[in-house]
Amino acid sequence: MTCEEAEHLVTPYIKGQLDGSVLEDFLKHVDSCPDCREELEIYYMVNVGLEQLDRDDDSFGTFNIVGRLKKRLAESHAHIRRLRRMETVTYAVETVAAMALIAATALQIRIWLFP
Ligand SMILES: [Zn+2]
Repeated sequence: MTCEEAEHLVTPYIKGQLDGSVLEDFLKHVDSCPDCREELEIYYMVNVGLEQLDRDDDSFGTFNIVGRLKKRLAESHAHIRRLRRMETVTYAVETVAAMALIAATALQIRIWLFP
């Protein structure tokens, strides 16, 4: 993912609109690119800051916003790990199902050939 692509995804990420491989690529990029990480932090701060102004809620200090973003990123990573695990399980189930089908077919052919 390029910086330009990542920049376009900052707002969708904050709004929770990213998922799957796009989310994974985005996380990989902001983890390895200090510029985009900073961009994300600034946008997140502005977004969360505005939300707090709307709610007139200052129970979270400005300092905490970075902490909240870290927590949010950690949750996103956990989400991706869960997705990957689910894909692995799905793949395993599909593989077993395919093998069972092959075995059943082979058995059927044997019954036809050697009654
Ligand atoms: Zn970047």
